[in-house]
Amino acid sequence: MQANERNLWSDVLGQVRLNHPDLVRGWFEDLQPAGLEHGVLRVKARNSAQVRYLQQHCTPVFAEAAQAATGRLVAVIFETDAAEDETSSLHGRPVPGLEEPLDLIPEFTFDNFVTGPCNRLAHAAAVATANDPGRAYNPLFLHSPVGLGKTHLMQAVCHAITANRPGSRVLYISCETFINHFIEAVEEGALNRFRYRYRHVDGLVIDDIQFLAERERSQEEFFHTFNTLHQSRRQIILSADCAPSEIPSLEERLVSRFNSGLVALLDRPCLETRMAIVRKKAKLRCIEVPEDVIRLIGSSVESNIRELEGALLKVDALSQTRGGVITFALAEGALGLNNGRIVKVSVIQEVVARRFGVKVTDLQGKKRSKDMTLPRHVSMYLARQHTALSLQEIGGYFGGRDHSTVLHGSRMIAEQIKQNKDLARQVQELAMEVKHSAH
Ligand code: ADP
Ligand code: MG
Repeated sequence: MQANERNLWSDVLGQVRLNHPDLVRGWFEDLQPAGLEHGVLRVKARNSAQVRYLQQHCTPVFAEAAQAATGRLVAVIFETDAAEDETSSLHGRPVPGLEEPLDLIPEFTFDNFVTGPCNRLAHAAAVATANDPGRAYNPLFLHSPVGLGKTHLMQAVCHAITANRPGSRVLYISCETFINHFIEAVEEGALNRFRYRYRHVDGLVIDDIQFLAERERSQEEFFHTFNTLHQSRRQIILSADCAPSEIPSLEERLVSRFNSGLVALLDRPCLETRMAIVRKKAKLRCIEVPEDVIRLIGSSVESNIRELEGALLKVDALSQTRGGVITFALAEGALGLNNGRIVKVSVIQEVVARRFGVKVTDLQGKKRSKDMTLPRHVSMYLARQHTALSLQEIGGYFGGRDHSTVLHGSRMIAEQIKQNKDLARQVQELAMEVKHSAH
């Protein structure tokens, strides 16, 4: 790769990071430009799961960034080296109807799955299944209410099996897809093909199996698929929003088959696990989040991890419009957790002025004397921590000082309170007072 191509590529990535932070993933670092020719920029990803993510979510975004970086019309194509592609082995032995790639989300790996008391059993069972498919637990049945990690864990098993066992054929699909394929096969008189497709795999992973409820013919077909695979010790993994016996109108023979392996519940995560998940998701998306905000986000959503991630993205989105720094106040505002109470800079100034025995007008004014510097910096620090205002907006309350002055002032205090316990206590008391005076 030439040096100018490398520069161009870092410009393109920079543009994407700036304009579409929600799409950026940690593994974007590994993408490699593979040539710009005839208005086409080719980009290499590590595997086909990454290529699919990029194609589905990022093609226009990268094209726009490449155009901004080159000043020309550039199309972007994502590809992967088949030989290096860890999932390509799936296609090594073509099976009719199984040519399409596994539709897995790249991030849904074991590495990115946080364990806690709520999901330890399910996670351990999934790891054991990935290490010894067809033998450890068969079937493995995961259940939980929506948004607690079933799909993530199932896909993690698929990622691990396809990476560790080149040549094994694992099929991951939703139950709806299974039913639709079955209906199509019946209509087209192509049941043999359908059966060949689903019964000649090393692993069959079907998500949200509760959709089989009230589908008598699909249940019948699935029963035979299940038996064929199970008898030849092929791994079966299923998920549902409740335990097998609670799925309405599911035939008894299926309930007993589902119960014959390991049934594991994913429970609601405790606060500590939720915080660990927020930390993990922030890292994956390259978002810097202070610890107090992690706790705030973790406390704001209890029962659904997808919503927890949504809360993190809300905070990030608001911070992007406010200079990119996430503070506690900004997060409270983004999540609507400040009960409509708004801390005003004028209140901060009054409280600080009273404590330091100075005049509010002097805090706002140009006086540079030493006894004004500390209260002014403390006010700036508190404004930064407890309002959602931008640096420039805060500067406006201090006689129109510019954003770098506010940044400098609040950083000074942040540094000083690390060393000076007295000051730390004083600032904390002032913060309490400021919050109490908010309306
Ligand atoms: P379900 O299939 O149970 O509805 P998903 O597997 O789709 O839930 O999970 C919803 C979101 O929450 C996904 O983004 C997933 O990565 C995330 N998630 C769930 N559990 C965990 C966990 N233990 N660690 C990290 N992320 C998790
Ligand atoms: Mg799911």
